[in-house]
Amino acid sequence: MIVQNRNKPQQRLGGCLMKEDPNIGYFEKERYNKKYGNRYTKALKTVDEGKVKKYVVPDSHIERWIVVGSKKEYIIVDDIYCSCYDFYRSVLQLQEIDKCYHLLAKMIAAKSQRYDTIEITFQQFQKYLLEWL
Ligand SMILES: [Zn+2]
Repeated sequence: MIVQNRNKPQQRLGGCLMKEDPNIGYFEKERYNKKYGNRYTKALKTVDEGKVKKYVVPDSHIERWIVVGSKKEYIIVDDIYCSCYDFYRSVLQLQEIDKCYHLLAKMIAAKSQRYDTIEITFQQFQKYLLEWL
């Protein structure tokens, strides 16, 4: 019998992702962990906490991925860009790494289909876009 502790959802989901998620293989996890370290750990936690959102405008081609960070929501574009400071500093400026933890979280969430889809109007999209950038 599986006992679910609703007070600690991230713990339950974290265990699920690390041990049982068939979409992310063992070697891929090892590779990510070795390459991204703490950023990978934070990305897993972010996915577990349900902080990856896909905003879509129905009857249009518009969809945007958002990751809720510690300070604000960040926009992710095509697995290559995030609007956070770590992306600006560590990826663009110092070129220490190629992804921030938000980007990693989006990729993990998309692959394992663990994200919220939120439908919005085009007017809302225009307003939110200014907040995300
Ligand atoms: Zn980021």
